[in-house]
Amino acid sequence: MTRALYDQDAYRSGCPAQVVRVHDGDVELDQTVFYPLGGGQPGDSGWIGRADGTRLRITDTRRDKASGAILHRLDAGVPPPAAGSTVTLELDWARRHRHMRMHSALHLLSAVIRHGVTGGNLTHESGRLDFDTGGEALDATRIQHKLERLVQVDLPVSMRMIRGEELAAQPELIRTLSVTPPMHLPWIRLVEIEGADLQPCGGTHVRRTGEIGALRVLKIESKGARNRRVVLAFAEDA
Ligand SMILES: [Zn+2]
Repeated sequence: MTRALYDQDAYRSGCPAQVVRVHDGDVELDQTVFYPLGGGQPGDSGWIGRADGTRLRITDTRRDKASGAILHRLDAGVPPPAAGSTVTLELDWARRHRHMRMHSALHLLSAVIRHGVTGGNLTHESGRLDFDTGGEALDATRIQHKLERLVQVDLPVSMRMIRGEELAAQPELIRTLSVTPPMHLPWIRLVEIEGADLQPCGGTHVRRTGEIGALRVLKIESKGARNRRVVLAFAEDA
């Protein structure tokens, strides 16, 4: 299994690594700072540097379902680095940092709207959560003001590990109705936004909510009789 350095330190933007094997243009490494697609967060992109100084583009990162290994996808037709060779990884940090900001923003959104979450997704530009409101309408202005406040007070964001069985005993921590965390695993990571939100999550987050920056509620859409979709964007992109 690939050592996932982003689990411990989401701010590490590069690392040395050794090529374990290459299959179909996907490079498996012994360790990585690249987050693989999952939990609604996109896979990271960036560069892989070879010992001769050449750099190859990594367009996406995925987890191999069968082996659990993290695979770094190269541009089609590019000859990959050889198995056993030492390489240097470098994240597209500007893109990843936006994923971190938006992921933490979505946790704040789930704290502001106390309905069950039925779906969600994020990109470097926007993020959305779907809520089962039972058909109740949501007020974009109120939501935006509450988010603004939680960003302004600059709450610390922290991670800790919890046993799967402990989490199973606290179902109130699970906000996502559509995806159940892997409670069969011995350890699951909890992400806490102090005083606002606590939930199991494997994604990458900012250290404090102030780093999310100003947000705006882009739109609220009806998704069937019971569900409402709230879409957030960064105010700086307006
Ligand atoms: Zn999350």
